[in-house]
Amino acid sequence: MTNNSSRKVALITGASSGIGAVYAARLAARGYDLILVARRADRLEALCAQLSKAHGIKAEPIMADLTKDQDVARIETVLSTNKDVRVLVNNAGLARLAPAAQMPVNDVVTQITLNITALTRLTQAAVPTFVARNQGLIINIASALAVHSLPISAIYSGTKAFVLQFTRGLQQELAETGVKVQLVLPASTATEIWDLSGVPLAALNQETLMTTEHMVDAALAGLDQGETITWPSVADASLWEKYEAARSELFAGTQAGMPAPRYKIG
Ligand code: NAP
Repeated sequence: MTNNSSRKVALITGASSGIGAVYAARLAARGYDLILVARRADRLEALCAQLSKAHGIKAEPIMADLTKDQDVARIETVLSTNKDVRVLVNNAGLARLAPAAQMPVNDVVTQITLNITALTRLTQAAVPTFVARNQGLIINIASALAVHSLPISAIYSGTKAFVLQFTRGLQQELAETGVKVQLVLPASTATEIWDLSGVPLAALNQETLMTTEHMVDAALAGLDQGETITWPSVADASLWEKYEAARSELFAGTQAGMPAPRYKIG
């Protein structure tokens, strides 16, 4: 499969607000044409018009509800047929923060469907084209809650833990190709997700909140430095190395083939 086009397109999900809208602006500034995906057409259209004018790029809005099978299928088709797509930013996400047992089942299912199923399907659609070209970039937005659960975040943390493990596995699968996969794990970032989550932004410790611009610029700086895992707010990078080393040691410790001595009866 060859592609002689010089166009480079970035497809960003959840680009109508917050982190995704800043990714759109930053990638437009880097010369990417854009395909912006979300449900709110008015916001997408306004952003496309603004970024096209500011950066002389082409920007196309696609209205899609990524919790709906047929809408995910439309974006899968774009990813598998538009050979100009060089970057996929899997950013669309939803948080509903409440005890799992009290959460309406619809809130549970939509979080899992958007944060896990849509992200996985869109990645699967993009990978074959990227591998065939031996080039491409997937940016998966997880969360610091991928490694941390709160009494109100069992579902959300679980979805982001999936993104963490899925992306780590994918990075290994694609290690011998020219396709890059970056995992980004933001901590609290000032976006609309909070007010929608049930925990208002104003209720958070404001000192722990990052702006969307700082978050995305740090993540892109990490990408430019060749990082595959980026913790935008973590000053001490050795913390992740220690976490990985402990995780690896724990996994090695599971490979014993026998119950641990403390579980031996008699
Ligand atoms: P946001 O401003 O609420 O943006 C979420 C985006 O996802 C919006 O563009 C929204 O667009 C889109 N979206 C929501 N439901 C959708 C659906 N059913 N179909 C298609 N698109 C949908 O929140 P954000 O903080 O920027 O979130 C972006 C990502 O960052 C998420 O994956 C989130 O989990 C992650 N994250 C955020 C924080 C934080 O503190 N803000 C921290 C860690 C990770 P429409 O409503 O127009 O569809």
